[in-house]
Amino acid sequence: MAGMKNRDLLPVGAKPAPDELAFVQGYANLLRFIQMRREIDGVAVLKKWLVRHGLLAAAGRVDQQDLRLALSFHDALRGLIRANEGTQVEASNVRRLNRLVGRFNLAVVFAPDGSARLEPLARGVEKALGRLLAVVIQAMADGSWRRLKACGNPDCQWVYYDSSKNNSGRWCSMLVCGGRAKARTYRQRRASRQ
Ligand SMILES: [Zn+2]
Repeated sequence: MAGMKNRDLLPVGAKPAPDELAFVQGYANLLRFIQMRREIDGVAVLKKWLVRHGLLAAAGRVDQQDLRLALSFHDALRGLIRANEGTQVEASNVRRLNRLVGRFNLAVVFAPDGSARLEPLARGVEKALGRLLAVVIQAMADGSWRRLKACGNPDCQWVYYDSSKNNSGRWCSMLVCGGRAKARTYRQRRASRQ
């Protein structure tokens, strides 16, 4: 999508999702960071991220109400991501997503070259979040969405892109979280034998 800036979306070493899906991945991880650290200024962090990635003008306003909306959108996204691991999507989450589509005013827009895309007709933060939701819907259409998952390590839950051949990955990193899970299983097996 025009204007999005793919700068430092993820920490060094983390594997990004392809194309614009990396923005959704970055957003899902950013808001988790805000939720984990309630004491930090969530409004400022959200604004900085949206401006940095070209989703909001530097002069754009972000307030507490926007942050609540952003957190609600984040929870809806996380619910959808869990469905990629086989969990059923909750009915309340589906209602929330449909409300958000209405709030973002997502519409089909034709470009001068005749191609069609989804675009939010809302303004400000609602427009920024609507652009991310449009990316999700596009990724669902092209099949890349089902590879976006949350790490199986409960202490991590980092959203990663599963690039394994048969989409059977469980951890953000085989070296870090996958290795820990293996060590835990090994310890448990040893303990049960003693
Ligand atoms: Zn992990």
